[in-house]
Amino acid sequence: MDSPPPTAMDASGIVRTVTGDRPAGDFQAVAVHEHVLFDIAVPGSHADGTPIDMINRWQIDYRSNETADNARQQDRARAGEELVFTQEDGCDLIVDQTVWGIGRDVAGLAAASRTSGLAVVCATGTYTAAYLGEADRSASAEELAERFVGEIADGIEGTSSRAGLIGEIGCSWPLEAVEERALRAAADAQRTTGAGISVHPGRHPDAPFHVVDILDQAGADLSRTVICHMDRTYPEGSRVAELARTGVMVEWDFFGIETSHYWMADHALPTDRQRLEMIRELFDQGLGDRVLVSQDICTRTRLRNWGGHGYGHLFRNIRPLMARLGFAAAEIDSLLRGNPLRLLALPERKAA
Ligand SMILES: [Zn+2]
Repeated sequence: MDSPPPTAMDASGIVRTVTGDRPAGDFQAVAVHEHVLFDIAVPGSHADGTPIDMINRWQIDYRSNETADNARQQDRARAGEELVFTQEDGCDLIVDQTVWGIGRDVAGLAAASRTSGLAVVCATGTYTAAYLGEADRSASAEELAERFVGEIADGIEGTSSRAGLIGEIGCSWPLEAVEERALRAAADAQRTTGAGISVHPGRHPDAPFHVVDILDQAGADLSRTVICHMDRTYPEGSRVAELARTGVMVEWDFFGIETSHYWMADHALPTDRQRLEMIRELFDQGLGDRVLVSQDICTRTRLRNWGGHGYGHLFRNIRPLMARLGFAAAEIDSLLRGNPLRLLALPERKAA
């Protein structure tokens, strides 16, 4: 309305999906941080097999990933159904940021992508130290970088599917030694492959800045690096602009979580409406090209099969809400297409 609709011309480079490379210009609506097949149950927690039903789903959802059974979804057929719903809501590319330690299933992602027709990007990288096996935890930065590069350039676990993103690299606070090595390895692998980097920072408000320092010293391209989870790290939005000014992208990826209370740390969480108000402020400060939005679904109760909003919420509900709140068409396009594609697009010469 205010501005002409942007054309596909301004998205260049290659998006590496699990079923092959595609021009970035093919995509219009991206869910950039999701988990399609995952197991994020707290290590050592016990799944008791209690089915999720109408009687208990609200309570399970309210404390979300505390229930081990809720924190894993490894049924490929269900995943395919979820991707069909997602596509019906207007999404044409979903990024599964499931890395080592949290149940990545690349063959399953390729199968769900083929049955649904929705393009899927998978990731290489390590989650937080607590989730890693001994071999991964003791790997050197050089070994990690070599494996990240191999998964981007050659393929994963004997499949022909290749990773299109590095991370989310899981970081704790204070940062564990392997997590620091993984950050350095991510910067190395980015230099070799041209892939974007995504980081799950520790919950302390200083954690994202510490991560940026390490990545910067290791030579990462900060403009193609995203720090996730602004929602729980800065619930009132403090320091997000300061973080974006370091040159990284910042991501609000709890869209669809409408609870006011963060069960994992006993502090406040913004609602979708409040997230959009904070994002408005970033646009008003000229930082809108550094903002990403997503839902980071990693529990069943947030999926359609279990009565949740599904991956399509961003397109079904949030896109029209953005327009009603006064975001210009070009701003909405940046959030749902231009910015995520800038993170994902491999330069053609490196993708070759
Ligand atoms: Zn995630």
